[in-house]
Amino acid sequence: MYWEKDVETMDRADLAGLQLQRLNASLTQAKRSAFYGKRFSSTSYNDEILELRDLSRIPFTTKDDLRNAFPYGFLSVDLQEVIRLHSSSGTTGNPTVVFHTASDIDRWGNLIARCMYTTGVRKHDVFQNMMGYGLFTGGLGFHYGAEKLGVMTIPIGPGNSKRQIWFLKQLKATVIHILPSYALRLYSFFEELEVDPKRDLHLRIAFIGAEPHSEEIRKKIELLYGIKVYNSYGLSEMCGPGVAFECECQDGLHVWEDHFYPEIIDPDTGEVLPDGERGELVLTTLSREAMPLVRYRTRDLTRFLPGKCPCGRTHRRIDRITGRSDDMLIINGVNIFPIQIEKTLMAIPEIGRNYLIEIHKESFMDKLSVKVEINEEVFQGTLAELEKLQGKAVAALRTELGVTPSVKLVEPSSLPVSEGKAQRVYDYRDGEKGSL
Ligand code: AMP
Ligand code: ZN
Repeated sequence: MYWEKDVETMDRADLAGLQLQRLNASLTQAKRSAFYGKRFSSTSYNDEILELRDLSRIPFTTKDDLRNAFPYGFLSVDLQEVIRLHSSSGTTGNPTVVFHTASDIDRWGNLIARCMYTTGVRKHDVFQNMMGYGLFTGGLGFHYGAEKLGVMTIPIGPGNSKRQIWFLKQLKATVIHILPSYALRLYSFFEELEVDPKRDLHLRIAFIGAEPHSEEIRKKIELLYGIKVYNSYGLSEMCGPGVAFECECQDGLHVWEDHFYPEIIDPDTGEVLPDGERGELVLTTLSREAMPLVRYRTRDLTRFLPGKCPCGRTHRRIDRITGRSDDMLIINGVNIFPIQIEKTLMAIPEIGRNYLIEIHKESFMDKLSVKVEINEEVFQGTLAELEKLQGKAVAALRTELGVTPSVKLVEPSSLPVSEGKAQRVYDYRDGEKGSL
């Protein structure tokens, strides 16, 4: 059974005691890594933390820290203890890699089992996991959790929509894990195949996450499929999914505070904000062995929700993520920094200096388009050459980003230049049309 009543409904004071004890153990463990060993060698960070709020005197850890310490700078155990590596998408230069020992994987599986159990998933369910398997944490994370619950798991991964529907129908799947954008797109295939999910399937629950989505999107999926949809939040730096999850009340996501210590900070000043104010979520791992992270800046914007949750769990809830404090874009679940697009385009000699990035919604999926000027000194001006160049740019971007954008080549100096900071990213996903 994965209803850990004692810990999930623990009295706040007891929970704080547990967190403090785990925090100090975690700091000791972190010091074994090259990165924290160096950072904590100064005596002021070396003392035991006596009160949780004293954590704020320790500096943040950032994504750049992880990249600069690639590959093993954050590893806190011997390599022979490590059994798994995951990596976040959306990297410029070195990827961020995260290591797990056998007990890290075990704890993560328990957490996902807890999340699934919370929403009513039981042994008799059939779980079709439509999230990507591989370096991305969505697929394998849920896979291990579902197996712990004893639920038959179909590791189908994303895409191949007609086959997905065939499996859903034939295997009588009751639970799915899916990107919200894909859930909406998949629906158009139901229409094409004349399958009515409400009439012809046995689905009752979906877990959605990995990309920002609104309450309206959740409601829409619930309505189309006739199921309950729960928001799942996580990031590969913490483990992946399983950091915060909605309970049956569907009003905010409980952060599993026995394993993660959350803070909300002002992204500009770095100050810890009073409860209820919106800011950036900072997380500290409390039980990770291979790679503890201290005050990791997630860049995700949210707030703590006030009051107690009617479900009885005492772990604090965060509001759904409303955006990010950096320029990272999430395109159908894949993380992309605009600088990756710039770097890739500028490495092609026939490409000029200026470019624009637009993102739209098309059949519920994110569509990335890039408009870029050609370099007239290199470009000879034939149509065949233009087509070749376009193909080259698309292929280079696909390799770098892991998603395929559409590329439109335009004449030199024809794109607008702004005074001051260039605005190159136009996100029209909330409904506006854009120009590409
Ligand atoms: P990754 O480490 O590649 O799995 O990406 C993690 C990022 O995905 C997070 O930092 C968030 O920006 C985003 N993300 C994950 N889950 C959610 C969610 N439920 N709602 C909004 N954004 C999410
Ligand atoms: Zn609750």
